[in-house]
Order: sequence, then C-alpha cells, then structure tokens
Amino acid sequence: MMFECDKCGLCCRHIDLIPQIKEFDTGNGRCIHLSENNLCRIYPDRPEICNAERMYELYFKDKMSEEEYVCLNKLGCIRLKKLDGNG
Ligand code: SF4
Ligand code: SF4
Repeated sequence: MMFECDKCGLCCRHIDLIPQIKEFDTGNGRCIHLSENNLCRIYPDRPEICNAERMYELYFKDKMSEEEYVCLNKLGCIRLKKLDGNG
C-alpha cells in the first residue's frame, strides 16, 4: 500500500475521535501507547483500527480501490494537521 505516513503522531494524539480505542485515551486524546518520539510502543500488536492495510483488507477492499482508500486516509491526515494548526 502506498500510504506515506510522516510519523507526525497526530492520529495517536487525537484518539478521542476514535471510539474503538477510547480505553487508550490518557484523558487529553493522547494514546497511552504513543512514545515520546511519536512511535507506537505496541506497533506489531496495534489494534486493527490503527492498521490501515488491515482495515482495507477487512472492511474496504470490496467498497473502493486501494488508491481511493489511500487518498481518503491522506485527507484524514491533512484534516488533523489543519486542526493542529499545521495544515
Ligand atoms: S496523522 Fe497521518 S501522517 Fe500523521 S502519524 Fe497519523 S497516519 Fe501518519
Ligand atoms: S495503539 Fe499505537 S497506533 Fe494506535 S493510537 Fe495508540 S500509539 Fe497510535
């Protein structure tokens, strides 16, 4: 999959927007598993909602092309960067 993540960590600092992993929220939207250098401490075992490739295979591949899916994911990142004042 050609999804390019710049490791800004924003998605992991706004998990209050992701109901599936609300139990990881430290109280301000930051995931308990996010390290200081913006990496996921449980990356190999991260939940499926955090795994773009797996989400595509499980839920989206019958609904859209991989290209469309990557594009929607990128739009989500851009939206988060704008919310954070970097867009
Ligand atoms: S917001 Fe997007 S670019 Fe930033 S870490 Fe998350 S997936 Fe990567
Ligand atoms: S589990 Fe890992 S990938 Fe998922 S939100 Fe937390 S730090 Fe990010």
